[in-house]
Amino acid sequence: MTLFAGPVFDMARTQFNIIADHLEIPSDERDRLLLPKRAISVSCPIHMDDGRTAVFTGYRVQHHLTLGPAKGGTRYAPNVDIGEIAALAIWMSWKCALADLPYGGGKGGVTVDPRLLSPRELESLSRRYMQEMIPFVGPHTDVMAPDMGTNEQVMAWFMDTYSMYQGVTVTEIVTGKPVGSGGTLGRNEATGHGVAFLASRALDHLGIDPLASTAILQGFGNVGSHAAIGLARRGTRIVGLSDHTVAIYDRNGFDAQSAFDHVMKHRVLKGFADQAEIDPTELLTKPCDILAPCAVERVIDEEVAAALNCRILAEGANGPTTPDADLVLGNQNNAIFVIPDILCNAGGVIVSYFEWVQSLQQYFWSKDEVMEKLERALDRSWRQVVDRANRHGVSNRTAAMSIGVDRVRKAKQARGLFP
Ligand code: GLU
Repeated sequence: MTLFAGPVFDMARTQFNIIADHLEIPSDERDRLLLPKRAISVSCPIHMDDGRTAVFTGYRVQHHLTLGPAKGGTRYAPNVDIGEIAALAIWMSWKCALADLPYGGGKGGVTVDPRLLSPRELESLSRRYMQEMIPFVGPHTDVMAPDMGTNEQVMAWFMDTYSMYQGVTVTEIVTGKPVGSGGTLGRNEATGHGVAFLASRALDHLGIDPLASTAILQGFGNVGSHAAIGLARRGTRIVGLSDHTVAIYDRNGFDAQSAFDHVMKHRVLKGFADQAEIDPTELLTKPCDILAPCAVERVIDEEVAAALNCRILAEGANGPTTPDADLVLGNQNNAIFVIPDILCNAGGVIVSYFEWVQSLQQYFWSKDEVMEKLERALDRSWRQVVDRANRHGVSNRTAAMSIGVDRVRKAKQARGLFP
């Protein structure tokens, strides 16, 4: 029995068990590796603009602290629950270990639709959430970052609230802060940049000419928009885009930068190219070289997987593909080249690590330095994953997760059990 339940947690557990079988991890070691070290639930009461008091539920799950502080984003979304946050924290662990970062996995969230809050309400909620978390987080315990529904402004409020309680400015308590408040150059676009970099690497690997390639992106938030711009810059034609308001498709392609400018101005993709509107699920199955799901979990299930028409699946989101869909993809004899989430979207946490290091040292790097180090780190992980997949005859996901799980396992074995 565990506190953690729901389809996303079940998915993280199923994936883990597949890897544990592959690595022949004895059953008595599995719970120690999978179950979160600590899970916190808090109530966050705030004054609403209309004078009412509303209470929002917040969570933080620290999966493990074996390799260093827990690290991971904070998500504001209406369907957030402890099971989903635990699954996301577990994925952060494998992701950080694969990238060789000195972190355990963490994730937090508040059950709220941030679009329904005024800026003042959003600030109150963010400050109250951080205040409730103060006993459990710290620059060497748990370092938060943005995720769906949060951004650099929310990180600045988190950092300020934490700092006011300490009596000194502690910029290293969060990453993804504004550059003017101790953040790093390049963090904002890091995740999307990484997706574009790795998707281009996959084009190269498969011998597809980037200038003749096409891409479809689901989700046009921080990840999807920067991935689209990055791919377009490398010559890929962006034939499909979507966000929660609209999905659009045009074989002639869209200008990614104009779509980005439209979203900056109007907050949504709707209104950008409504004549090209298409059913959002159909968008995923349209022909393209690169399909990049950059939104939420579990959008590619068995049925969608069987209908996919892409050469490369670049997982910008966390957990977009279900284990059942993986079976379908596996049965197609790797006809679709999957760049698994813990590799594909690792650019975000890698640059978060660079930001944390800069914040601790108060010594800041140029953007070129950040981007160059990011690409080198992604390239190293890419080579390890592709090499392991080839050597063991397994999928890229199994290879990536095996590397991550094995590193955490070895660190736990070396440290032993206390007391
Ligand atoms: N939320 C992002 C992720 O899922 C980034 C986490 C971080 O930068 O710590 O990877």
